[in-house]
Amino acid sequence: MKVIFKEYYERATLELPYDMELREFAYQPFESESYVRHLSFSNEVELKAYLAKNVPLHLYYSSAKYQLPSAKEMEEKGWMGADIQFDLDADHFCNVKKFNFCPTCGQAVEGDVCPRDGTQAIEYVEVTKECIEKTKEKAIDLVEILEDDFGFKPKVYFSGNRGFHVIVECSGDCALLSSSDRKQIAEYVMEINVPKYRGEPGDPGWVGRQARGKSGVEIDEQVTTDVKRLVRIPGSIHGKSGLLVRRVELEKFEFSKEALSPLKGTGILMPFVSGEFELIGEKVKLREKTPIRLDIALALYASLKGLGELKIYEKG
Ligand SMILES: [Zn+2]
Repeated sequence: MKVIFKEYYERATLELPYDMELREFAYQPFESESYVRHLSFSNEVELKAYLAKNVPLHLYYSSAKYQLPSAKEMEEKGWMGADIQFDLDADHFCNVKKFNFCPTCGQAVEGDVCPRDGTQAIEYVEVTKECIEKTKEKAIDLVEILEDDFGFKPKVYFSGNRGFHVIVECSGDCALLSSSDRKQIAEYVMEINVPKYRGEPGDPGWVGRQARGKSGVEIDEQVTTDVKRLVRIPGSIHGKSGLLVRRVELEKFEFSKEALSPLKGTGILMPFVSGEFELIGEKVKLREKTPIRLDIALALYASLKGLGELKIYEKG
């Protein structure tokens, strides 16, 4: 699996901020649960050379800009401001299917450990196309609020797994907004503490929006209030899905392997469990310990979701 990521990063086009030398970079390696942090690069060539030797499962840069991004202590970094980020996660907008199963015997498990063989259970969370569509509608509402009521020019990214990141690139005053300023923006977006009186659909702000029957957008408030958040790098692969983090036009966005996977070809998956699963919007039947040939995007997605092991990748 690591070799797939390695080959990808050798030819990847990463969308990097124009002031990348002010950002902290971080990644999670394949072999480790913890992040390697406090990296800094002055240009894309340097970063790509580093990634060729240190293959990331997850790859990030900081929403904050620093005088010394590679300093180990936050106080030494010299915070200079930060972009504003909004996260929309599908599991806030629909009931996702979740269950635990044992990868050894393929049986459903109630707790964390299989009572039959003591294996650590895997939690499977299914993200359906329908659910991503609902999340997309909320992202469209969020962008409207940010543009109309704040004058922001947000950029929208598919998160790589089950939602969207909406980023307002800031310089000047916007970058210097404090955590509590950002909390007010987050609350406004969520329709908390906004004026409520009878208005007309054409009225500005929430008055008009309420008259048009719209309601607040649930976002991850902690992400928005954090002034030193790590952001997934657009063009990187999300290590829990194998899909690309990428800039999207919401109206045209489609949750499909064609739109979101960087890979071509097929893979052989050895499933740990039997059942019908929705993988990147496609229904796939798996039988425990029965190898199945799938499009590589689906096979990699299934293996990163814990449903089986990717055995062979044949490039197409
Ligand atoms: Zn078991």
